[in-house]
Amino acid sequence: MRKKIVAGNWKMNKTLQEGVALATELKNILAAEKPNCEVIIGTPFIHLATLSELLKDSVIAVSAENCANKESGAYTGEVSAAMVKSTGAEYVILGHSERREYYHETPEILKDKVDLALANGLKVIFCIGESLAEREANQQEAVCKAELEGSVFHLSAEQWKNIVIAYEPIWAIGTGKTATAEQAEEIHAYIRKCVADVYGAQAADETSILYGGSCKASNAPELFGKPDIDGGLIGGASLKAPDFKGIIDAWK
Ligand code: PEP
Repeated sequence: MRKKIVAGNWKMNKTLQEGVALATELKNILAAEKPNCEVIIGTPFIHLATLSELLKDSVIAVSAENCANKESGAYTGEVSAAMVKSTGAEYVILGHSERREYYHETPEILKDKVDLALANGLKVIFCIGESLAEREANQQEAVCKAELEGSVFHLSAEQWKNIVIAYEPIWAIGTGKTATAEQAEEIHAYIRKCVADVYGAQAADETSILYGGSCKASNAPELFGKPDIDGGLIGGASLKAPDFKGIIDAWK
């Protein structure tokens, strides 16, 4: 059985103190009422060590939102996969459309990041998804396949076990426009087929594929009710504990 997951992506939000307060609130809520899915919070680098310690006996896993494409050395301001791992974080989000667009992360750069993350014992939440223009030109399948081929389909079957895919249509991120559950299911099923073509039907069946893009408590039950949608990567609605908990509850 593949894992059901709800993962938050805080992006560049929350000071350290605010992050500790949010993580503590979430930890207490989920201690009182066990979730029916894996819960991950993706946070800025500066939160990782503190939150990994705070959450170490909880059901919540911690993820970075990025890591460097170099192992170590003279790369001022960068944070390596080994450094992320040393904080106690378990995951790293890679390939987010904001990183691709604003920081010009190419498929080659992302491939190096994925390799370094896995080599350092991190699990990767790898984001793919099309722009509005690409969706209007009906290119969503080609875009997703190319993004997989460009950065993760070189991995071995063993390495693939540490990959979670997040399908995030760019036109739905932070816009309030959600893909319909049918639109999302259609592309999730296609992504799973692409994975099956490379790694086989069993590996594809065991791969968690998350939906991201204006997911909230009100639409999560319908999205998560689809057979190929294994949870969500949540931006805006992960910034308040009750909103995030509402999405986690979609698995009840
Ligand atoms: C995201 O950026 O990963 C995301 C899904 O954002 P939002 O939920 O705010 O659309």
